[in-house]
Amino acid sequence: MDGSCCANPVADWTVTIEGEQFREVIRCGSCGTLHANEVIPAPIRWAPQNCAHCGGLMEQDTWRDGAPMVMRCETCELTKQECIDMHRRLATAENGQPGLLVGAVRSLQSGKAVLAIKLATAAAMSGDDPSYARFIRLKAMASGGLTDHALDEAWRWIDEGEDELPAELFDWLAAAEAETGNVPGIRRALETGLRVNPENTAAWTDYGELMLALEEYQKALQAARYGLTNPDPELSERNLAVILEIAEGMYGRELYAEALSAVGHAGDHHMETHVELAWLRARIAAMKNDVETSRQWLQLVLSLEPGHAEAQAAWDKVKPEKRRGWFGFGGGNS
Ligand SMILES: [Zn+2]
Ligand SMILES: [Zn+2]
Repeated sequence: MDGSCCANPVADWTVTIEGEQFREVIRCGSCGTLHANEVIPAPIRWAPQNCAHCGGLMEQDTWRDGAPMVMRCETCELTKQECIDMHRRLATAENGQPGLLVGAVRSLQSGKAVLAIKLATAAAMSGDDPSYARFIRLKAMASGGLTDHALDEAWRWIDEGEDELPAELFDWLAAAEAETGNVPGIRRALETGLRVNPENTAAWTDYGELMLALEEYQKALQAARYGLTNPDPELSERNLAVILEIAEGMYGRELYAEALSAVGHAGDHHMETHVELAWLRARIAAMKNDVETSRQWLQLVLSLEPGHAEAQAAWDKVKPEKRRGWFGFGGGNS
């Protein structure tokens, strides 16, 4: 975008599918000026046997006597090689170098969705890191607004089960499904991704939150526990919040054994450093009439947060009586 439309130009790309072609519209998001509106041939469906330029069927070229037989697109008449060469020229014009995949990534970064789709598709078909190139194709479609189309293609790709899938695919898929608000889709993306990569603690964290929202508490607790193996404090907070919410829910319903079991998923380290968890442990112990354990947790809460009013009030009720002069402070079993 030339940026001459207004003081604060913001490129806003949208792509629509018109018959067998893409239409790309570029508008300024600030002032609404229309900067481009064009139909661009590009393969809408992923069909590596078809033409990388227009998606047309390739057919045997028989009309050149004496020349070796080549496959030629029945629509645009390019051979596969001519088609790849043409995309290299496009990449060079755009980025100053002929790399198809690099060109696709850069076009995507600058928001040129259809060019990114074209270059990524050509890269995948020419064997230039095909798996990653297909992933860029999906991202390009989503960035141009064709999210449903990209999601359908992604799921078909996964269901085929033939290619090695890029690790980033599932995180992207879960986020794209979340954007469309499709809860079963988010769930499927996270579950499929976690089967492929069970070490993805950030995905376990997302999954725990999703399971909490779906009230599948055992799955949520399990996921949060896996998520907690990542020491990142931000992830820890999210996983602990899941555990705490479930445990508090159980406590509120007077299910003390279940609350205790839920809170146990936080592990010893967090239990001893997280004031909310310790406070819940103190209350659970009190409800089970285990005064000694309750005292220990109350002491911990008050050492972590000396101004904790509720814990202080509870402590004043259960603190040990002054006996044999062991305790230097005033007792009283009020
Ligand atoms: Zn503008
Ligand atoms: Zn073609």
